[in-house]
Amino acid sequence: MKSDILKKNIFGKTSSQIKDIVKSLDLPSYTASQICDWLYKKEAQSFDQMTNLSKKARGLLKEKFEVKLSPPVEEAVSKDGTVKYLFPVQDGKFVEAVYIPETHRSTLCLSTQVGCKMGCVFCMTGQQGFSGNLSAGEILNQYRSLPQRAEITNIVYMGMGEPLDNLNAVINSVEVFSNLSCFAISPKRITVSTIGMMPALKKLLLNMRCNLAVSLHSPYEEERKKIMPIEQSSPLNSVLKTLKEHKFVSSSKLSIEYLMLDGINDTMRHANKLIKILHGLRCRVNLIHYHNSENSSLKGSPEGIIKQFQDKLNAAGMFTSIRKSRGKDIEAACGMLSIKKDKK
Ligand code: SF4
Repeated sequence: MKSDILKKNIFGKTSSQIKDIVKSLDLPSYTASQICDWLYKKEAQSFDQMTNLSKKARGLLKEKFEVKLSPPVEEAVSKDGTVKYLFPVQDGKFVEAVYIPETHRSTLCLSTQVGCKMGCVFCMTGQQGFSGNLSAGEILNQYRSLPQRAEITNIVYMGMGEPLDNLNAVINSVEVFSNLSCFAISPKRITVSTIGMMPALKKLLLNMRCNLAVSLHSPYEEERKKIMPIEQSSPLNSVLKTLKEHKFVSSSKLSIEYLMLDGINDTMRHANKLIKILHGLRCRVNLIHYHNSENSSLKGSPEGIIKQFQDKLNAAGMFTSIRKSRGKDIEAACGMLSIKKDKK
């Protein structure tokens, strides 16, 4: 019998990958849809629970694969109801995911990497450094093993890591979320967030039907470079050109994320330039509160400045919103995720 260590995780495989597995084992083709059904609709945790599969099929699958799910090992509950979970991933590492309940919807913010390479100066994940990519199964496990999974209406890829730096796993996980034979979550309710890595952004746009959020944080390339090192390899103008050339299908929406940093990017000069560079792009601009941290000299813009900035964009005919601050007391808010201590 093969050691479990050598077995691959079948949870997280897309329906076409499962078809390939079934074919490689010389099993009847209908077995693939039965496996998808058990994994993603009936919540099976082992091949033994897949009772309409033949004994032979279960035996062959068990030789090479396992159904690996990992429940969270820690949770922190905010006074506003937000819950941050710590999930174990490969090699004894951990990632965080955040459950955000609201009146008419509940959002899961999930992670795609352990830490991040991108080094954005305002982000605690960036300061943690990078120590690995998550597999599609590990991304999806943050949903599948979430205690409040049944309540989730929206999925956002805005946790630890840059999704486009782990593109194949992200594309496969979105496929499993949205495929009707898998979790069947509407792509309209899924948002992948990126700082705009090129050329991965082009590949993502070709492959996905879900929503996209692009973090801009400054309309000036030289100023953006100081807070987001990605600007050196993926300049703002090429990101915006790609977005303007792409035909977004009606189900997928684009939002521009803009963190409001006191004295850094929140003046009328910045608002005017933002209006200019976003001209011709159908999008919503999300203005985000920055949470002051003892580890950073950056400060969040005052409430009044954020409102003035928003009024300026609105007056130019732009769609805008100010992102509500959730889970600040448990360090679950935007840019605050980080595994600071070694977990044993
Ligand atoms: Fe990475 Fe996103 Fe943080 Fe930048 S903001 S360091 S891309 S996790």
